[in-house]
Amino acid sequence: MIRLFHFLFFVLVLFAATQSAHSESFYKYRGTVAAINDISEGELTYLSLMDIAAATGCDLNWDPMFLEARLRLGKSELVLSMFSSFIKFDDQLLNMTFPALYRNGDLYVPAITFTKALDNLVPTSLFWDETEKTIWSEERSYNIIDMNFEPKMNGYLIELVLRDKLPYEVYVSEQKWININVFGGKLDERYFRTRTRPRAIKRIRAFQFDESAQLAIKFFRTIGKFHYSFATNPPRIQISIIDTTFDPAMLDTLDDEYTDQSDGINVIIIDPGHGGEENGAVGPQGLREKDVVLSVATKLRDLLELDGRVRVIMTRDTDKTLTLEERANIANFEGGDLFISIHANASGDHPKASGSQTFFLAAAMNDAARATAMLENRSLMLNDDFRSDTPVDDLNFILLDLLQTEYLAESQELATNIQDRLKKKLKIKSRGVDQAGFYVLNKVLMPSVLVELAFVSNKREEALLKKDSFQQKAADAIYEGVKKFIDKYDTDN
Ligand SMILES: [Zn+2]
Repeated sequence: MIRLFHFLFFVLVLFAATQSAHSESFYKYRGTVAAINDISEGELTYLSLMDIAAATGCDLNWDPMFLEARLRLGKSELVLSMFSSFIKFDDQLLNMTFPALYRNGDLYVPAITFTKALDNLVPTSLFWDETEKTIWSEERSYNIIDMNFEPKMNGYLIELVLRDKLPYEVYVSEQKWININVFGGKLDERYFRTRTRPRAIKRIRAFQFDESAQLAIKFFRTIGKFHYSFATNPPRIQISIIDTTFDPAMLDTLDDEYTDQSDGINVIIIDPGHGGEENGAVGPQGLREKDVVLSVATKLRDLLELDGRVRVIMTRDTDKTLTLEERANIANFEGGDLFISIHANASGDHPKASGSQTFFLAAAMNDAARATAMLENRSLMLNDDFRSDTPVDDLNFILLDLLQTEYLAESQELATNIQDRLKKKLKIKSRGVDQAGFYVLNKVLMPSVLVELAFVSNKREEALLKKDSFQQKAADAIYEGVKKFIDKYDTDN
């Protein structure tokens, strides 16, 4: 009996020892070290959210009742939802790929991806070092500090303040954009994008690239003469825009940076589904979804370009592999005003299933919509960051809904316009408009729809999809739906 107890005791000690093999990670900032409890799960290190909050000086507000935790610093916060890998950060949605784990009365977050999300919240720059099990926190090394606008008698002056002199270039594109590229420049994209701007300026975009940074400033009026030079004390790029008809009242500042109501529809993103390594659905006669949708997308692009009112960006115009995240990034980066993803449907269980259908993003309301979303979301697995068990489930949409709500009505309207035309033109069954949780739509910060042209798994529709005339009709239908939408919303002349 005693021996058995000894043995059990030994097993317990051994068990405790293996459990604590990696029980501690660190947060290091300027020589100070804070310990952070961790656990290993598979290949991943998960860190205690309580310890992270303490180390970074953030307030942690965790309410298991609402299945969410809020990590706040100043006015900004990260909102984590239990069982979901998505994190809301102000108006953005971040994905840590794996959901947080609930252990020992604490939440544990995946170190590598959560550190990236946390980097948005804290003033320092964060980096997860897996070998050292350390979050390194360093001062940010921004060298593009600020941007000022100043009214002048005959125009306006833009000043970009730098830490040191850096090589740069300034040019105008599409008549209304002033672009400033700073080589070796480092800037806080968020700061510049949300900076208060004068009324004369329609939009400010800021991009951090590997080797350079870019600021793009869009004016309401066509830019005529301008010149630029470098000034010192402080080091700054000065751009003067000469406009003798300039109205100084236009320099009143606007506070609502995100609302750009008068902007109209300028940029349309067309997203042909799948591509490259990923065929999408394949029909009984071998027709591949990726080929059909590219063809229809190209026809749609040509129609929109002929119309001439909008700029068209294709997420791909060749047969190449793109993750859903990359598609969304292209759309957001290009400042799209509408996003149209084009697909062809399939049903393994029901080879007779047929018809066109248009979706907009929302939690799926029925099983058929959910099945279509599952099918299209499978592309997630192409992304190395995703595992097949990453659920793109309804819980995620608690957060996603918050984000897309402002576009929901418009997305639904656009979907209805398009589906109406598809029904008239294609002369196949119309499955109507539905809502479902498409990953590609939920990261896109603009009204967005996903069109399923027809069923490639249905023999008759596969044959139709193959036809150039049918593809043209589909493109015409989508174009007309979009046109109706633009006519209503475009106040830009
Ligand atoms: Zn598809």
